[in-house]
Amino acid sequence: MTTLYTKSGRRFESFHDLIEATSMHRPNPDWVYVDPQGHEHRWTLTKDGVVIQGYHPSAQADVLSCGWQSVDYYTEEGEKIDIGYHICAQCGVRINPGYMADETHQYVRGLRHFRIDGKDVSPDVFKAELRKEGVDVP
Ligand SMILES: [Zn+2]
Repeated sequence: MTTLYTKSGRRFESFHDLIEATSMHRPNPDWVYVDPQGHEHRWTLTKDGVVIQGYHPSAQADVLSCGWQSVDYYTEEGEKIDIGYHICAQCGVRINPGYMADETHQYVRGLRHFRIDGKDVSPDVFKAELRKEGVDVP
């Protein structure tokens, strides 16, 4: 939460909802596996392939050195379920990426709220009123 009191005594507040993102099954950033052909596998960020450092609950992670081998599976009712497993993209050996559980509650940012003197306002009104108070707003 960011709170600003202007010279005229008005209170401007801005804050985000926090959404719980605690997981019992999320990528383990310390996991590394070298398969029998010497190919190294690690969790990377999906967006740019950079090896993940630490943990960011809002970031999508993937093992980009792996492909996905789909297995058609049908329930007794004939419903198809999409399952499969990771394989090395180079040699095809099955890979079991490392997962772990969160040990503390994890949160990601949700909607942002703006308030003036305790009343909800739109972002545009918030900025306009701040400018009237002489505050530089980008
Ligand atoms: Zn391999």
